[in-house]
Amino acid sequence: MIDSFGRTIDYARLSVTELCNLHCVYCRPYEESPPCHSMPLKDITTIVEVLAKLGVTKYKITGGEPTLRADIVEIVSTIKAVKGVKNVTLTTNGLLLDKLSAPLGQAGLDAINVSLDSLDPNSYRRLTRNGRLEPVLAGLEAAYNARIPVKINCVPHSSLTEQDLLDLAMVAKERSIHVRFIELMPIGPAGELTGHAPDSIFAAIERRFGPLTPTTLAYGNGPASYYSLDGFKGLIGFLSALNSCFCERCNRIRVTSDGYLKTCLHLDKGKKLNMADKEDLEQTILKAVQQKPKRHLFNTPDARACDRPMNRIGG
Ligand code: SAM
Repeated sequence: MIDSFGRTIDYARLSVTELCNLHCVYCRPYEESPPCHSMPLKDITTIVEVLAKLGVTKYKITGGEPTLRADIVEIVSTIKAVKGVKNVTLTTNGLLLDKLSAPLGQAGLDAINVSLDSLDPNSYRRLTRNGRLEPVLAGLEAAYNARIPVKINCVPHSSLTEQDLLDLAMVAKERSIHVRFIELMPIGPAGELTGHAPDSIFAAIERRFGPLTPTTLAYGNGPASYYSLDGFKGLIGFLSALNSCFCERCNRIRVTSDGYLKTCLHLDKGKKLNMADKEDLEQTILKAVQQKPKRHLFNTPDARACDRPMNRIGG
């Protein structure tokens, strides 16, 4: 699909459940009533069949926490089997990855993003409102051992110290795991919060580890910028939607677990999809993609235009 600004849309983020086993301060509202929507496997299959027919080849399974789905392995193999699908990846907090990595790898999962903001158990517990770091590290290890390419995504919330961020970057030294810093976006509870500026993280990494050398290669589905460091096996990535807007290269749409299509993380309230009618689904998607906004307005007075918190979108 090509939108009205000439962008090719070939990547979909599918949220398969709103449930999450963490309550991260910047993601999930503190007083939220328990989230409950999960997308039935048959609807996941339908939407992927239609999207793949329209040229969407890359899929990120997200949530909530997607590994809370008892059928997550089947979800991966089902999506993978749809004609036209080339790449299926998953983003997870990693808490349940220890046992799941091997079967996910066997199901054909192409890569995993582990959302991990700090290697300090106390910082981790504070940011996730009581999450335990240990199982996440075990999950990371298991994914690595299952030979699934792994990236770490860190949202550098201001409560983290520079040392927290440097410790995380160090993971890329020993292993070919890319560590990415995702700029905090003012969605849901994060509207009231601040994060470390990408430039200051960049400078801190260079002070400690030497020059960050830009790589021209693209890793993954999105518009992150990647850099290599001398002596590091993995790369350091930055995804800075506010600081360096990449909307002109946006290739993505999102489907929420309650069946809404969002063509822009920020500006689109979402179109309800009718999973019972493939023809209708196709027309709704084509029309929505033509109305995909040119860019987000996070940096403007309309910054709070999105009324869905991130845990109910999928990031
Ligand atoms: N539970 C899964 C996970 O941890 O990856 C999937 C859902 S989570 C909403 C997806 C990603 O969104 C995570 O990497 C999370 O850190 C990120 N995220 C949540 N709120 C954010 C915000 N306000 N700004 C930037 N990233 C955010």
